[in-house]
Amino acid sequence: MSDVRKWESKKLGVVIEVDYDKCKGIGECAIVCPSSVYEVVDGKTTAPNIDDCIQCCACQEACPTGAIRHSSCR
Ligand code: SF4
Repeated sequence: MSDVRKWESKKLGVVIEVDYDKCKGIGECAIVCPSSVYEVVDGKTTAPNIDDCIQCCACQEACPTGAIRHSSCR
């Protein structure tokens, strides 16, 4: 079983899933996100500010391990 964590914005109807088996905590998502959605905590990324997401898909594209799945980005 993979360890997939999920954050949801009810306000935006957006879901971000991060596969913690793939996340290395390097924080590329936090660097590229224009809305400061992400925060790396104890070596893994989290998305506490998902309500500020502008659905640009930069995070999903930037992640070198493909750990991020964003519901607005295919
Ligand atoms: S889609 Fe854009 S704004 Fe939303 S979390 Fe990813 S990088 Fe940030």
